[in-house]
Amino acid sequence: MSNLPACPQCTLENTYPDGDKLVCADCGFEWSTEADAGGDDDTVALVRDANGNVLNDGDAVVLIKDLKVKGSSITLKQGSKVKSIRLVSGGDHEVDCKLDAGQFMLKACFLKKV
Ligand SMILES: [Zn+2]
Repeated sequence: MSNLPACPQCTLENTYPDGDKLVCADCGFEWSTEADAGGDDDTVALVRDANGNVLNDGDAVVLIKDLKVKGSSITLKQGSKVKSIRLVSGGDHEVDCKLDAGQFMLKACFLKKV
């Protein structure tokens, strides 16, 4: 017996490897084993900074570019330091930052862990 995964298209288990792919003998569907991992796992996505470092609550970060704050005339300067961030799940701005200019939600990709 093999431990090959069932066909993602027809769910039958008549699958066989073909190079780095798997092929379903029943419906002819081919797929790559490497792409098999993604999709339906619902582990919480890690928040990563501009360098790919994982950010955690309480981390200190600096801004890697000037950021205009939407709906205001405030520009947060590149190099501004945030002593302690707070991560927020949901939405596309995942980091809550307290700066001299106030408290802002920023994207992790504009931050760098220090
Ligand atoms: Zn199939």
